[in-house]
Amino acid sequence: MKPVIGMTASEDGQQTYVKDTYSKRIIEAGGLPVILPSFLKDDIKLLLKRIDGLLLTGGGDLDPLYFDEDPHQNLGNVTPRRDAFEISLVKHALNMKLPIFGICRGMQILNVASGGNLYQDIYKQRKQISIQHSQKAPTEHASHLVHIEEGSLLRKIMGTEKMLVNSFHHQAVKVVSEQFIISARATDGIIEAIESVAEPFVIGVQWHPEALVDQSAVKLFEQFIRESSGRK
Ligand code: MN
Repeated sequence: MKPVIGMTASEDGQQTYVKDTYSKRIIEAGGLPVILPSFLKDDIKLLLKRIDGLLLTGGGDLDPLYFDEDPHQNLGNVTPRRDAFEISLVKHALNMKLPIFGICRGMQILNVASGGNLYQDIYKQRKQISIQHSQKAPTEHASHLVHIEEGSLLRKIMGTEKMLVNSFHHQAVKVVSEQFIISARATDGIIEAIESVAEPFVIGVQWHPEALVDQSAVKLFEQFIRESSGRK
């Protein structure tokens, strides 16, 4: 049976939407994508029971109230209803041991929902930023290196110690949740991937694999779909 993959979505107050590349990647890897609008409150567990894997897509900044900070002057746009929905979704999905793949904002949600926190703006809040994490090159261009930790699941999936990724973030994971380990870093030390120590597949990456055209993206999505298959 093909697994159903729930995708979180962007919203502008009138529309809920996801970039096509996410759906295409899921379909190519053998899954069935569905969009999860953020209106649900009470029935989140019921919704999660109907899907086999959860894809946390990219988007704007996360409200720092979820890690007990006031908004920094460089905090970007926040979407309160989306934040509340996704935090709750992830808490339940972790409890239910659902495979979760977090991309960019999705990795940050994973970390914060399980007790970690973020830099609200790496350029202002972290010293020794040496590379461009908000790349000006096109989306599909892999611009900076990440170093993948030995022994990590990510390393196993990728089969390589370092690789090039694209980068579209000004926020980043600061303190990693106790439920996760760091699985990759950029050359300047910025955390670029985390993974759960307990679950078979709960991975967050700070880059956008859905937009990359190389095999690394295929490997990640295929592993995610494989883990989401045959769970019912
Ligand atoms: Mn980066």
